[in-house]
Amino acid sequence: MGEPIRFFLPGPSYVLEQVRQASARPLIGHRSAAFRELYASLGPRLRRVLRTEGDVLLATASSTLVMEAAVVSTVRSSVLNLVCGAFSERWHEVSKACGKDADSVTVPWGEGVTPDLVRRALRRKRYEAVTLVHNETSTGVINPLAEIAGAVREESDALLLVDTVSSLGGAPVEIDRWDLDVVLAGVQKALALPPGLALFTLSDRAAGRAAAVPYRGFYTDLLRYREKHRGGGPIATPAITLVYALDRQLDGILAEGMEARWARHARLQSQAAAWAAGRGFAHAAAAGFRSPTVSCLKPPLDVAAPALVARLAAQGFVVGGGYGDWKASTFRIGHMGEVREEDLDALLAAIDASVEELRRAAAAVPGPA
Ligand code: PLP
Repeated sequence: MGEPIRFFLPGPSYVLEQVRQASARPLIGHRSAAFRELYASLGPRLRRVLRTEGDVLLATASSTLVMEAAVVSTVRSSVLNLVCGAFSERWHEVSKACGKDADSVTVPWGEGVTPDLVRRALRRKRYEAVTLVHNETSTGVINPLAEIAGAVREESDALLLVDTVSSLGGAPVEIDRWDLDVVLAGVQKALALPPGLALFTLSDRAAGRAAAVPYRGFYTDLLRYREKHRGGGPIATPAITLVYALDRQLDGILAEGMEARWARHARLQSQAAAWAAGRGFAHAAAAGFRSPTVSCLKPPLDVAAPALVARLAAQGFVVGGGYGDWKASTFRIGHMGEVREEDLDALLAAIDASVEELRRAAAAVPGPA
């Protein structure tokens, strides 16, 4: 029996006690032999988690820095941003803020990006890179990454930059098999670590293109991370305590196994979906695009999502509110990281009880005369 989890934010997610304790180890210097040994030991395990034979690089940053760094490092001018929610929209904003000639292909919130849409956009214009958010945490949509990667390769020579922030560790991400160029993820979601580190990969093709891009910045230069990494260390002082936690958590993740972890997340998604269907809670994400790590749900009309979130919090259950324009109409259950079926059962029972209470309270309020 694991630790009971009552924390279902779609990131940061619940961190196991033993992982939190690991980060309390005494500090060592980041250029010391001890740190270099620890750093080197991460590589083989990270490669198994990210399914790549290539380098897995580490930034002491939240994911947004690496979203920006990916664009700054690999794109001279033209980039296509595939947009289906708040975080993919952010990548478009980031691209424009970096002075790139950024186009977007946008689908309504709740829908996913299809390979056909990508093909059509790539036939209209040539781009140096395409950005895709694999799992849109704002809407609970997961996009068909393998198929989109295939479409990008067949239609163009564009690089594919992929945000797997809320999918890595909870859904299949096959970096080498799907031939992905830059893949990035923060560690605070399905990898179940405290926030503050981002992982990323850089294909040889992406590194070659980056070498021809002038002014890649310093802390945003992905080639500089790779060069430092190949020398045996990080680019600058890393969050050493988080590296301790990563060291511990990687062992836990690999002991479970990637396939088993993906299967557990898929079961959690089905569990939430079966419960929702029986209660009149609608998925905000279209059928066929529902995420295994986050369910974004619309309660029945007589239940206000923010009131439900508050009622759950009062009982010690934390879920995510709706994001942006969907704040009033949806709430989000992050069933990611270390969450188990029995944890989700407890949450779903608490939602049932909270809905009852909200309905009783509404019925007790006298209506207009
Ligand atoms: N991309 C996705 C899909 C996210 O869910 C988030 C954060 O929730 C981000 C990017 C931004 O991550 P960060 O806040 O770590 O910069």
